[in-house]
Amino acid sequence: MAEKNLEQMRQAVAEIREKMAAAAREAGRDPAAVQLCAACKTRTAQTIAASAALPIDLFGENHVQELCANYDAGAYCGKPSHFIGHLQTNKIKKVLGRASLIQSVDSEHLLLAIEKEAAKAGIVQDILLEVNIGGEESKTGAAPELLWPLLDTAAAQEHIRVKGLMAIPPVNDDDAQNRRYLAQVYQLFVRAGERGYRNVEMQTLSMGMSGDFENAIREGATLVRIGTAIYGERDYSKK
Ligand SMILES: *Cc1c(COP(=O)(O)O)cnc(C)c1O
Repeated sequence: MAEKNLEQMRQAVAEIREKMAAAAREAGRDPAAVQLCAACKTRTAQTIAASAALPIDLFGENHVQELCANYDAGAYCGKPSHFIGHLQTNKIKKVLGRASLIQSVDSEHLLLAIEKEAAKAGIVQDILLEVNIGGEESKTGAAPELLWPLLDTAAAQEHIRVKGLMAIPPVNDDDAQNRRYLAQVYQLFVRAGERGYRNVEMQTLSMGMSGDFENAIREGATLVRIGTAIYGERDYSKK
């Protein structure tokens, strides 16, 4: 049993929404201030389109090829799509126009390449800066101390607007440690907002996945990215 059918998805999303709202209330926050992003990787366009009828706010894609295929097939049914995976500079052009927000900008090289493509296309692209908070080598994201130079660079651009931060902190069995990581990201989010950079508005804090979204909301997330808990286990054998 891997992918869920529509009824199972409906129930899963209802349960996730309940838990999201409870975690928000527990933290004294408005449940309406937290968005649910469905992480689509490996799911079929058909599954994604079926899930679009559920109370999911937007879709997140890790791979440019899947973003293009699903977007062009109308699988998001008019809901917003974000890019949340590692982005190679030679694929930026395909993402512009298909992702209203690029969540995973983690280097000056990528940031400047997006600026250049956005300028060519005559648009202003919204982005999040991705921070690697657990220091895991396998993970993407800029080291926390590199956030400030990245914000300086972003502030000087004309075709990029920073809308917040994204992070994938380690999810482990140690609940307290997980919350400390999430709290560290929140601190960076607040400090970045206080510094008042040009072209930077700290509105969106994207953190929390199937295993830690309640903690993430308790620690200030405004957007959680959930795949497995909505759609079921991923089957990579087909890809
Ligand atoms: C896959 C993925 C998620 C969702 O992970 P689940 O554990 O399946 O909920 C969230 N964010 C990113 C960046 C991902 O790649």
